[in-house]
Amino acid sequence: MGDRKFTLTVLGARGSVPVSGSEYNIYGGASSCYMVEAGEQVILLDAGTGIIEAPNLDHRENLHVLLSHPHLDHIIGLPFFPELSKKDRSITLYGKKLNGESIDVQIEKAFSQPYWPLTIAEYPSDFVYVDLELPLIIPDDGENIVIEGISLCHPGGSLGFSIKYCGKKLVYFTDCELSDEPDEKIVSFIKDADLFLCDAQYTKEEYAKRKGFGHSTPETAIKYSQAGAVKKTLLIHHDPFRDDNALKKLEEKLGRDDITFAKAGEKIEII
Ligand SMILES: [Zn+2]
Ligand SMILES: [Zn+2]
Repeated sequence: MGDRKFTLTVLGARGSVPVSGSEYNIYGGASSCYMVEAGEQVILLDAGTGIIEAPNLDHRENLHVLLSHPHLDHIIGLPFFPELSKKDRSITLYGKKLNGESIDVQIEKAFSQPYWPLTIAEYPSDFVYVDLELPLIIPDDGENIVIEGISLCHPGGSLGFSIKYCGKKLVYFTDCELSDEPDEKIVSFIKDADLFLCDAQYTKEEYAKRKGFGHSTPETAIKYSQAGAVKKTLLIHHDPFRDDNALKKLEEKLGRDDITFAKAGEKIEII
């Protein structure tokens, strides 16, 4: 009988571009990557520079990397993912076909000469690309991990995911521009989530000047989380120009325990 845990660890919650410096210690500077542990399975959501912080995963049989979309801030950490350099380590990367182009073509385009000396498939690990078909079902010791997806509004498109395991539900909405009035289809997708990660890159004032950039505000994220009766919400994809002090202030203004900005290294136990 496997361990029935279901957790999420924030490895990187910074949006658009990684940042560094002591003013980013709390909320972190690494770009998008979240580690989900469900039973014995490890699912990494996106492969921004946060993936470099992944713990040693030697004792895990298979690793799954799930991409929301191939924008650079979500894949740039991939060549430095420590597990890629381990011989015989099995890694599966799932991503959606875009304009008829398979995920391997999308990624190898970014990581091949002259932009990078070797392709991801050339690393020592046993690495495979899979064009994502939804729902994706990953079996784990008699239980299924069921992953569903929904298209979100973002330049070039982005996928939101729900991950269900042992009756619990996690929803991951990175890069998305949610409508001000909650969309019914999206609300039903996030309905009753135990944990909801939602893009909240811009303040209301910033958003007024950046409509169409494909990102949301804390206010909109909260509207959706309330409409979906979500238990806990983590606001993600922090703007690179927002340091710890600025994020802390925004968080204090919200004054909620159940809606907070994701912090570097934070681990949430759903089960
Ligand atoms: Zn992004
Ligand atoms: Zn993006």
